[in-house]
Formats: sequence, structure tokens, C-alpha cells
Amino acid sequence: MITRSVAKALAQLRISNVVAIPTETVYGLAASIDSLKALRKIFKIKKRPFFDPLIVHVNGIPAAKKLTPDWSIISQKLAETFWPGPLTLVLKKNSRVNELITSGLPTVGIRCPQHVMTLKLLEMIDVPLAAPSANLFGKTSPTRAQHVEQEFRSKNLLVLDGGACKIGIESTILKVEKKKNIWLLEILRPGMLGADEIDKALIKLKKLYQWKKQKISKKKPLLPQAAGMLEHHYQPSIPLFYVRALTQYKVPKANENKIDLVLSTKPSLAARQLYHSMRTCAESGAKKIYFFEPKYFSKSEWAPIKERLQKASTKIIG
Ligand code: AMP
Ligand code: MG
Repeated sequence: MITRSVAKALAQLRISNVVAIPTETVYGLAASIDSLKALRKIFKIKKRPFFDPLIVHVNGIPAAKKLTPDWSIISQKLAETFWPGPLTLVLKKNSRVNELITSGLPTVGIRCPQHVMTLKLLEMIDVPLAAPSANLFGKTSPTRAQHVEQEFRSKNLLVLDGGACKIGIESTILKVEKKKNIWLLEILRPGMLGADEIDKALIKLKKLYQWKKQKISKKKPLLPQAAGMLEHHYQPSIPLFYVRALTQYKVPKANENKIDLVLSTKPSLAARQLYHSMRTCAESGAKKIYFFEPKYFSKSEWAPIKERLQKASTKIIG
């Protein structure tokens, strides 16, 4: 059921139920971190394997600090600069965070989402909420309340409707770990917030950190794997074929009942449309979706969108 009432969502969370919540990235399937019963429901409803960890959502820095022994000047600066926003910090966890959330990892992903309803909900419940994207495991992430409702129609799930997600793809996941006297940074999942912006925010702390792997630079985009993320993800309900730029590919005659996925030429708009457009194509009656990679996809600003599309595709051609 779709609602715009934060109070109704709160009531469900308080009785150990899960609720779908809006964020600026994608909709999440939320449970109180204090309810093992609710946390287990997330995995059950999503058909998510227990090895894939959940991100913990907080309403600000004080709540984040209570989840880790490792809150540093680096985390402080990043959170002050980018929260609420699409940046998840992966930090050493403390005993407040159950291993069910982290899939047994010693680290926890923490983020403060930018959505007025979800921030209100977090403030009212006063407990962090663990939430993966509100879709079946491996499938396209939802960016509207209706997407969640459609996917879980039979589950009697309350969906807090906060409108269409402004960013439209998942957060950048940044691991921040201490090695000797230096903080090492690593992007585990690319998002619309890139390494260059992170460097800019940390300019005064330059001597205190290093990138663990080569960061995503303008010249050579690098697509690191997020721990726990599989090769295939974000998949629509019909096959998607990703045709690389500069490939001389003619769609076979037998595949004529296909639809082309077309995105904006502006990265922020393309990200916002991406999952909704994938769903629209999948529901069009066509049997296959084709995406023809534009030449400008080689620019680093497109890297997070390219990563989602390639993982969503059944086959990459060329
Ligand atoms: P989703 O919200 O569906 O994008 O799923 C959350 C994703 O966050 C997982 O698939 C992991 O890739 C990532 N994640 C969450 N916690 C951690 C962690 N402690 N270490 C590494 N990755 C994590
Ligand atoms: Mg997901």
C-alpha cells in the first residue's frame, strides 16, 4: 500500500515490520537495526542472499559516530561536505551493528540520505535504519513508489511515497580504512559523486589520506567492484543488450521486436531516468531491449551509469 504518512511508516517499523522509504538515490526497503526480526524480513522479501550487506541510514553525524570506533577527521569532513547526500562511508563497525547487516564483515556502510520524509522518519524513530534497494535481488532498482508497489504487490508492504528520486542511481560507496598512519580510500561502488569531488573536499587533509587503488580519473575510467556486488545486477524483466560504441553491429532480423533504451545526453538527467526508462522498455511489449553506447560514455562522468547498464545487460556486444 502506498502512503504519504510518515507516522504510518513509523508505526510499521515500531512493530518490527519493513517499510519502503524514499531517498534521493533509489527507494530502500528499511528495517530498524534493533530488530533482528525486521532485518530478516528484508532478506526474505527481497530474496536477497545473506552474503550481501545492507547500508545503514542515519539522520546525521552524531548517529553515524555511534556505529563505528573509527570516526576520523576524514569521515567528519566527508560527512560535513556531502551529507545528507549520495555518499556511503564503509567504516569499521562496533557491536551496535549486528553481523546480519554486514554479512559478517567487520565493516559497516553508513549513509545519511537526502529526503525530507526519510529524515523525518529517522528523527522520529531515533534508531538507524538498515535498507538495501527495494527490489527483488538482482533486479532493477526502484525510483518511484509505484515501482516498489508493483514489485512487491503480494507482500502487503507499506511504501512511503516521496515522489521520483532526484539522483536515480545508488550512492557512491567509499571505504575509509586506517593503514599505519594514513587513511586509505577506495571506491567500492561508483556513483554520481566522483573521486575528484572527494579529493576537492579533502584538499586541506591531503597529507592524511591516499587512494588505495587508482581513483577514477578523467583520462582512464576505472570501475572497481563493490564487495558483495555480483557481476549481474539491476536486471530488467526482459533481456538487455549493450552494444559498445564504435561496434559495427546490425540488429538481427529475428530480433526486430525490440525497443531501444534512449537516455538524456546529460549525465545527471540520464541517471535520474535510467531505471524508470529500463522499466518502461521492459513493459512495452517488446521482447528485448537494446542500448547503443554513445561515444561520450568513455568520459569518467558516465562511469557510474555505464556500470549499472553493463551489469543490467544479458550480453555486452563488441
Ligand atoms: P543496495 O542498497 O541494494 O545497493 O545494496 C547495498 C550494497 O552496499 C551492497 O550490495 C554492498 O555492495 C554494499 N555494502 C554495504 N555494506 C558494505 C560493507 N560493509 N562493505 C562493502 N560493501 C558494502
Ligand atoms: Mg540493490
